[in-house]
Amino acid sequence: MQDDLRSFMEALRRADKLLLVNKEVDPKFELAGVMQSVERLGKASFFKKIKGSAFNVVNNILGSREMLAILFATTPERVVNEWVERTTKIIEPTLVSSGPVKEVTKKGTQVDLRDLPIATHSSKDPGPYITAGIVVAKDPDTGIRNVSINRLHYREKSKLGIRMLRTQHLGQIYEKYEKRGKPMEIAVAIGNHPFEVLAAATTVAYGIDEFTISSALRREPLELAKCETVSLEVPAMAEVVLEGEVPPEVREPEGTFGDFMQFYNPIPADQSPVIYVKAISHRKDPIYQSIQPSHLEDMHLLALPREARVYEAVSKVAEVKAVCLVPMIFACAISIQKRFEGEPKNVAAAAFGAYPWLKYCVVVDHDVNVFDVNDVWWAMATRSNPKAGLLLIENGRGFPRDPFHIHQSKVGIDATAPLNQWEHFERKEIPGAASIRLEDYL
Ligand code: MN
Repeated sequence: MQDDLRSFMEALRRADKLLLVNKEVDPKFELAGVMQSVERLGKASFFKKIKGSAFNVVNNILGSREMLAILFATTPERVVNEWVERTTKIIEPTLVSSGPVKEVTKKGTQVDLRDLPIATHSSKDPGPYITAGIVVAKDPDTGIRNVSINRLHYREKSKLGIRMLRTQHLGQIYEKYEKRGKPMEIAVAIGNHPFEVLAAATTVAYGIDEFTISSALRREPLELAKCETVSLEVPAMAEVVLEGEVPPEVREPEGTFGDFMQFYNPIPADQSPVIYVKAISHRKDPIYQSIQPSHLEDMHLLALPREARVYEAVSKVAEVKAVCLVPMIFACAISIQKRFEGEPKNVAAAAFGAYPWLKYCVVVDHDVNVFDVNDVWWAMATRSNPKAGLLLIENGRGFPRDPFHIHQSKVGIDATAPLNQWEHFERKEIPGAASIRLEDYL
């Protein structure tokens, strides 16, 4: 059997990173609240009882750099290197005859999305949202598959709203179907191994099947199974699969929804397409995955592919130790082994060039932990010189959804110590502190 969500949850459990929640939880707000409380402990949450649903729920399985390190079987610092190394050569997925996701299949009038434990996350959200669904569709001209993550608003027992923008591949594919007056077939897989979710969250060129990226991350072909009612393929080891159609020329209000920036978007609600769900298949004891928008799991999913892009560009011009775009992907911390004065500004410029959404780039010395915002802030406060160490780029290219024009300019900050003055900037140390086990003293 191939690695799946369950095998990764077991790896988290062994590392004491999975917290079991036994008390029944209401999917409206209470679930999101408890997920947030567990996230603050640095753990994933596994809910055994959800009010009104027989499904279990898992959240925050990629909520920290340590969890990513478990996924890639490496150290927190080396996760980005693993990503870069594994994705240099894509691997085609493979078709298998069936899989656990087919254990239960319901079609037509049997479909009832109310069976799912769909969370309502934020106060102004219009209702429950599926947030961890991997959406599969095919280009009608080439037949090439596209995989993406789109938010899905629960509407009726067999109807969902779907947000898809014309700037994104799925929106472009839907436009092709719509021009022909034809419905777009669609499949949504929920409860996947993190490599499928990471690949779906990655921006690659149009015409590249994102399942070739997840296969590359896995270092083996991802096993796909054919859908029951549409000519699409989905991960055979998924927990839940929805199948359906997006009809042409149908739009309904979607949103506003508390999104990845913690803000509601769009304001007011947009007119968006809908999915008519024709079939649902799932495992006998299904685990439903939920991702909280803007929370650490969402941020790590958005950050990692972008960190890889920054790392690749910056490592061409400097000795880079680590790159971090968490907790918010518009700000980056990069640690380097500095070789000459001024080098941090070149590093920041390279990062801005490689990744246009970047607004702040802080460059720190090798002894600063870029995954700890407190440590980066310490370096800024103690080692930077605002008079000499700032790189200001006015009116560059930034995050495109910017009605108030606040995301197009950039600042690079050199928070490294002057060369040849290390003894004045060397951090003090407590000998033996790293090997102390506190439980031996209690
Ligand atoms: Mn794509």
